[in-house]
Amino acid sequence: MSMVLTEREQRFNELFEQLIDAMTDNDKTDKKRIENILGDIAALLRLSRSVTRLFRNKHEEDMGGGETLCSYDLHIDGEELVYTHRLELSMMSLGKIELYMKRGDPPFDDFEKSKAVLISKTLLTFLCRNRMRNVIRELALFDDSGFRNNRSFMNYVMETSNKGTLGGRAAVNYNLRHFSLVNQQIGRDSGDTVMHRHFMGLEKLIGDRGIATRLGGDNFLCICGAEQLDDVVDYLTETKIVYDDSDGSSVFITTSTGIYVFPEVFVINDPGEVLNNVIAAAKAAQNGGKEHIVYFSEKLLKGREKAMRVQQQFPQALKNGEFQAYYQPKVNVFTGRIVGAEALCRWVKNGKIVQPIDFIPMLEETNDICKLDMFMLERACADIKRWIDEGREGVRVSVNLSRKNMMNADLLEHIMSIINKSGIPHDLIEIELTETTTDVEFKDLKRVVSGLQQEGVCASVDDFGIGYSSLNLIKAIPWNVLKIDRSFLPMKIDDASYVMFKYVVAMAKEMGIECIAEGVETTEQQSVLKETGCSIAQGFLYDKPLSVEEFEKRLEEKRYTL
Ligand code: C2E
Ligand code: MG
Ligand code: MG
Repeated sequence: MSMVLTEREQRFNELFEQLIDAMTDNDKTDKKRIENILGDIAALLRLSRSVTRLFRNKHEEDMGGGETLCSYDLHIDGEELVYTHRLELSMMSLGKIELYMKRGDPPFDDFEKSKAVLISKTLLTFLCRNRMRNVIRELALFDDSGFRNNRSFMNYVMETSNKGTLGGRAAVNYNLRHFSLVNQQIGRDSGDTVMHRHFMGLEKLIGDRGIATRLGGDNFLCICGAEQLDDVVDYLTETKIVYDDSDGSSVFITTSTGIYVFPEVFVINDPGEVLNNVIAAAKAAQNGGKEHIVYFSEKLLKGREKAMRVQQQFPQALKNGEFQAYYQPKVNVFTGRIVGAEALCRWVKNGKIVQPIDFIPMLEETNDICKLDMFMLERACADIKRWIDEGREGVRVSVNLSRKNMMNADLLEHIMSIINKSGIPHDLIEIELTETTTDVEFKDLKRVVSGLQQEGVCASVDDFGIGYSSLNLIKAIPWNVLKIDRSFLPMKIDDASYVMFKYVVAMAKEMGIECIAEGVETTEQQSVLKETGCSIAQGFLYDKPLSVEEFEKRLEEKRYTL
């Protein structure tokens, strides 16, 4: 027996279907459309008013906040509340619906009552679910500080690629330069303000032609239109950011930036490839010295591949004994005597010698450099031990430690256990460390150097004079040796840099710090050293880094004829 629906029932079913349609439209929730349908339903059920509210949480509900989502109102004075439904979907979303009728009207009949309940429950379930979906999307696409995150970037790239509008645009990966120094100078809170404002400035510049996101820390990733790229590059090269509006205090922000311009016709196969390319460019910009903006090229990619090869081959090469310690003599410029040596690493690969520049930076990326550094320390200790055992005069050997080692809290213990195991006198080892720019590292550096000092192991500042040489670094940390970089070394006595060199040497002497000049290639430079009282030199004028056998020969000869 088929049931014959009343006209009222039929009408309701139609409206209900429309409502479900409107609410499940995934593209966007059309509030007006839902309200219109609800109006029709309310009329059918003889409602004078209906109010649907959504709240983010209980607190918002208690405070009477929330968002009124759908309402229908005949503006009737005498009305009464006939039905309430409340729904709580997890902590993130809850909703409430209230239905009113004109006072004095006959009460709901069974049909009206059951449909009112059905509508209320359906409506709330959908709206709460939508709300929750939005909250989750927000959580997924933004990081804790409110910056769009990497997932936003990927979504955007995929969407625009699918629409075919990515071609010709540019992906940009940039790092704020020396941001820890900025934080140090103006404080963390102002630092945060600077970072936000810098980001907002870029976002504004890009507008709807792209997207700006944060990868983490001071590392950002964005997409911009081809026509905007020049402006974006200008912005990232240097921009003044005001962080205190009351007095206009500001800092200049510069970045290391990698840029990958998408080919004109471009559809993504592998979204990871976009990231790889732009990050390769950004890494080059970070490592590449003076050039702070680097465009992606195939050559760069080859460099990345090479880096990955080195990183892959390293563990086995270390086991195979392919890394060797070469020794470059340090010479007293007045007497010509060898007073020490620096251990420099060489990779002997298939009978060919690979220079540090072709593997050290790559190993620094993965922190494998720390293993290599400890290996080199062991080698140096073992060689010194052998020289002592063979009755040679031992000389102090310096070993380079990458700054990456600073992250190791047990560094000092580790160094000392290696030296102690070898059984050599502590004062025959010197540890070379480079300058640092961050305050965290500064503390670690101070701790490690002081610790070495207590153990009677010397510590030297390597490459002094390039980068951020700070006098504070020299003053606050108990260094034994200042190694002046060859770029700081004057070519001859009337060079413009002579005065500065002279006073650095004098300052070091006054502070009881030993001075050594690196990269001495000419007799003119040697004269400069004699003139300024910098008594120790290292450089091609005397010897290149030598294999251990060659170095031992030099040790026997003892002195150079100058
Ligand atoms: P560095 O510690 O400043 O070492 C001095 C570099 O200058 C050496 O380059 C040396 O060969 C070079 N040099 C010496 N005299 C002269 C000269 O008269 N003229 C010129 N043009 N160069 C000279 P090398 O051996 O290629 O090492 C380069 C850098 O690689 C080192 O700079 C150091 O930072 C790093 N390195 C080398 N071995 C190790 C290691 O075992 N561990 C770590 N962490 N870094 C290392
Ligand atoms: Mg060195
Ligand atoms: Mg050096």
